[in-house]
Formats: sequence, C-alpha cells, structure tokens
Amino acid sequence: MIVKPRIRSFVCLTAHPEGCKKNVQNQIEYTKKLGLVKDAPKNVLIIGSSMGYGLASRITSIYGGEANTVGVSFDKEPAEDKTGSSGYYNNKALETFSKGMGLHYKNFNADAFSPDVKTEVVDYVKKHLGNIDLLVYSVASPKRIVGDVTYNSYLKTIGKPFSTKTLDFGTGEIKDVTVSPATEEEIASTIKVMGGEDWQLWVEALLKANAISKNFKTVNYSYVGPDYIAPIYRDGTIGQAKKHMEETVKIINRLLENLEGKACVAVCKALITQASVAIPAVGVYTAVLYKVMKSMGLHEGCIEQINRLFRERLFEKDDSPVIRIDDLELREDVQKKVMEIFEKINTENYKTLADAVGVSKDFMKIFGFEIDGIDYEKEQDIS
Ligand code: NAD
Repeated sequence: MIVKPRIRSFVCLTAHPEGCKKNVQNQIEYTKKLGLVKDAPKNVLIIGSSMGYGLASRITSIYGGEANTVGVSFDKEPAEDKTGSSGYYNNKALETFSKGMGLHYKNFNADAFSPDVKTEVVDYVKKHLGNIDLLVYSVASPKRIVGDVTYNSYLKTIGKPFSTKTLDFGTGEIKDVTVSPATEEEIASTIKVMGGEDWQLWVEALLKANAISKNFKTVNYSYVGPDYIAPIYRDGTIGQAKKHMEETVKIINRLLENLEGKACVAVCKALITQASVAIPAVGVYTAVLYKVMKSMGLHEGCIEQINRLFRERLFEKDDSPVIRIDDLELREDVQKKVMEIFEKINTENYKTLADAVGVSKDFMKIFGFEIDGIDYEKEQDIS
C-alpha cells in the first residue's frame, strides 16, 4: 500500500511505517551519540511508551542505560486496508532496532487504566525482570473507563470563558476561539483521567507484588507554561489534573517511605505531540516558541528533553519532588520575545513570525510523514 497522510484538523488518520521507523532511528542515533547515562536504571517500566515523551524515555533507557524495558501503550493495530497508529509502528521499530542488544523488550498494547492490565503487566515484570528500578508514567489520554463509567478529559477553562487563538494543523490557519468554562463534573472527570490516581495505582500494584527495587524512582510528566496561556492550561481543567498529579507525588513518597524510593514530577517543555496539538492556544504558542528558541539556539524536542532529564537531573541526589526541565522555555528573555510575537500573531503573519514550517513538520513527523530520507511513493508493508 502507498500510504499518504489523511489529516483531520488535529489528527492524521494514517501512519507511515517506514517514516515512523526512521523517526525512532533518529532518536536512537541522537541518544547513542551522547554515550551511557551514569547509574542508569536497569529495569524500566514505561506507561504510555509508544509516542512523545514516553517513547523518548524508553529510547533513552535502552540506548542511554542499556535497560530492560516493559512498555504499555494503547495503539491501533493495522487492518487489511488501514494502517495502524504511529505508536504501533514505533513499538515495532524499536523492538527491531534493539534486538541483539541482549536486553529484555516487551510491549503491552493495552489500556493502562484497567486493573486487569496492571495485574498482567506486574505479573510479567515479576516473572521476567524481578523488579523495577524506574517507573515512567507518560499517559496522555482523552478518556478513562472505570467499570461502567467513562470519564473524559476536557480542555476547558475554569470560572470564565477565555478567548484565544488556535492553529488548524491541516490548513495552517489561525482562528479565534473562545473556550468555555467547565462544569464541576467536567473538572472532576478531567482529574480522574489526567490526574495522579492511575499513577498511584501502578505504584501500589508494583509494591503489592514486591516488584520494586531499592532506590526505586518514579517520574510523571507535567507542564506549566507562561501566564498568558494559563487560563486554558495551568488554571484550566488540564491544569487541575496536573496539580492533582503533583499532589500525588506526596502520597507516593509516603508509600515508598520504607524503601529508599522516590517519586517526582518533571515539568517538560511545550512540544508538538498528539496530546498537545488539540489544546487551544498551545499550537500557536508552540510555533512562536519554536521560532524564538531555535533563533537563540535553545530548541529541544522530546528526545533532547528526556536525555537532558535522565543525564543531568533525574538521578541526582536531591530531594526536590519537582524537576524543571522547562527551564529554557520559561527563561525571561525567551518568554519576553514569545509573548510579544504571540500577541500579534494571525494567519497572515504566522508564516514569518512563527516557525510554521517546523511545527507543521513536527506534526507530520508524529505520523511518520515529511521525514528526510523516506520515499513516500514506495509501497509499504503496513502489518
Ligand atoms: P503523546 O500523545 O505523544 O503520547 C501519549 C502516550 O500515552 C502514547 O504512547 C499512548 O499510546 C499512551 N496512552 C494513551 N492512552 C492510553 C491508555 N489508556 N493506556 C495505555 N497507554 C495509553 O503524549 P505526550 O505529549 O508525550 O504526553 C505525555 C505526558 O507528557 C503527559 O502527561 C503530558 O501532559 C506531558 N507533557 C506533554 C507536553 C507536550 O507539550 N506535549 C509538555 C509537558 C508535559
């Protein structure tokens, strides 16, 4: 099959197997060039491992730390005439590349929120790895099913509406949008999906099975961002979920008290991923941020962020439960420039004032398209 992109606003309905493979390979090459991480964890469990920050965490664990990895992600398998999701091809590619390294590599394509899946994965860990040194929680999901109830994650404000700009990734148009405030039920539902509860349940499942090593560490990823997009992010429904997750660190640290384990949150940089593109204002903001950070030589993608996190911050012996790896994004000189441009951006000046090309390429890259060295006219084995 010749695979072409089919974009619907914030999502591409197809994924290119060879493009995804190349995307994984590029991240591997970047990590390998940096050499091995000092005192890297040897057994790593990554929840949300097939894309974005979770995939970068797995690649960094394997190629920066020679770790055995177990990954859980929720990906669409291919059908006869339909491609799978990009996460499906990323998992497959990473398995192929890492074969022969003598490391354990296992994927679970399953709903991480499910108690049965937790049991299955933890049983597997116990049987094949014994215990886990590092648990990375990097799930970004629009919904969570608990029993008969489906909880949705809402991208809404709290209290009052917020008018801002949003980027249509299909057309490159910047549109005005007014985001309405969430109800109490919608706030609670978002916290249920994207808050810290499921992370805590994973730690509890590992503890119960005695599958946690001495010096165990667990990290979850958060975002803060600047004040001018706070109504939709930090002070909005998703921000409430992130605050809940940050509070969960304290609970997990109490659970780990008797071990020498530690939980922390890494606040990462805004990047174009499947999870972030649908958030109003964030696409436009990220396009401006890319422009400014690239012009200052400060830009990082997921793999650069996670390598810096793993190599310089995550395994340092400090007690801070929050690691700010978004330090460069929120630098005063960066933010001053970004805010000036963000205020005047529109469809006409977007291509010159923002990194329209970089952001569009990063969006396509999620699905394996527009990647250098790939012949997009070539037949693909989509299995
Ligand atoms: P992403 O969309 O690129 O990846 C999400 C991953 O979660 C995928 O592997 C997907 O398969 C998995 N997933 C979704 N639902 C699942 C389920 N039910 N069971 C198992 N796996 C499931 O997302 P991302 O942008 O890498 O986000 C990961 C984390 O990083 C989130 O907590 C997000 O808030 C945070 N973060 C993102 C950004 C950003 O700009 N993208 C910035 C800072 C922090």
